Amino acid sequence: GHDGILRRQAQRESAARTYARSLPIVPVRARGLTIEGADGRRYLDCLSGAGTLALGHNHPVVLEAVRGVLDSGAPLHVLDLATPVKDAFTTELFANLPPALAADARIQFCGPAGTDAVEAALKLVRTATGRSGLLAFTGAYHGMSAGALDASGGAPEVRVTRLPYPQDFRCPFGVGGAEGAELASRWTENLLDDPKGGVPLPAGLIVEPVQGEGGVNPAPDGWLRRMREITAARGIPLIADEVQTGVGRTGAFWGVDHAGVVPDVMVLSKAIGGSLPLAVIVYRSALDVWTPGAHAGTFRGNQLAMAAGTATLAFVRENRLAERAAVLGDRMLAALRGLASGHPCIGDVRGRGLMIGLELVDPDTGAAAPALAAAVRQECLERGLIVELGGRHGAVVRLLPPLTLTDEQAAAVLDRLADAIPAAAR
Ligand code: PMP
Repeated sequence: GHDGILRRQAQRESAARTYARSLPIVPVRARGLTIEGADGRRYLDCLSGAGTLALGHNHPVVLEAVRGVLDSGAPLHVLDLATPVKDAFTTELFANLPPALAADARIQFCGPAGTDAVEAALKLVRTATGRSGLLAFTGAYHGMSAGALDASGGAPEVRVTRLPYPQDFRCPFGVGGAEGAELASRWTENLLDDPKGGVPLPAGLIVEPVQGEGGVNPAPDGWLRRMREITAARGIPLIADEVQTGVGRTGAFWGVDHAGVVPDVMVLSKAIGGSLPLAVIVYRSALDVWTPGAHAGTFRGNQLAMAAGTATLAFVRENRLAERAAVLGDRMLAALRGLASGHPCIGDVRGRGLMIGLELVDPDTGAAAPALAAAVRQECLERGLIVELGGRHGAVVRLLPPLTLTDEQAAAVLDRLADAIPAAAR
């Protein structure tokens, strides 16, 4: 039963596990926004597999697509051979890419996880440019393998030069978003153009259009365009890590679409697999310098994930769920800003589409309040709402509901949160 399973997991599984420790839930059933535990308790799941479940749990079109493959007798494992299932996935994905990239795109299947795709992207640009350095940003999260970890915030820096993300200039220097973006842009330019103290020309620059794990920090559109200009002018491939922002999450199909930026490489995972493991990079064909076998991997042809992903991408496109996420996200952000006006412990409300963050602070000092954020998560859990924490200090409560969220569900999520915050602050 419920308690025995939790007890055995605590004994057998590494303490490195994350969600299991903060969420003492043994999920046995799930549909849409709702998860049901072995103890019969039901939760509204605004973690969504860390932003993976664009259509929520067990969406009928996803189940049907997976069953279709299972019932067809098609092979489930064929390395990276061509199959009708893969062909359909690639066709649907390319139909949704920024047109300027789709016109000239190559795809590489990378293995099950976002980290695998980040690694492939880093290796690709290093191979294509013959250079080794990488520019990445403070607060970034790109994965947990050595190369991906180097690019993430808070990791030991080996070959990575870390640049300030615009939000860094928010509080400490008391400047607004536009000025912060301007300062961050100049910082990057100065570093690249300074022959003495700067950095050698790097192999690439990797950026999340909205930082997720870093605490829901949307890249200002103008700043992202500047990054595009700065990299294009110097022949530096721009890598957009859309692992979390892709497939409608931010209120546009891709996070870069808000700024109209076309990256050289897009890193995709999470939602593109329709809740099953799938990760790819898509990039300008000029970068396709691989020789056959240069980047191999056994699990890069997950047929079930491709079928689930095709169904998800098509459903998001046909039902205009990116637009829906934009509208609903704006409404939720407005409601949360209203809530914040009555609760000085909510220091900031930010986000884009259905990628939303509330930063908890000490009302007296304005300092990040991770203990309070953890208490909010706990109070949410007790009210049947699953949220996640993020941000440099773990003080940002994150909401990543499915794009299929109804108005009523959004209201229920907001109600529970509005209840949980004063309870945690007490
Ligand atoms: N990039 C981004 C932007 C992510 O949010 C994540 C996961 N949260 C990753 C990469 C790594 O993906 P995975 O956990 O599947 O390796």
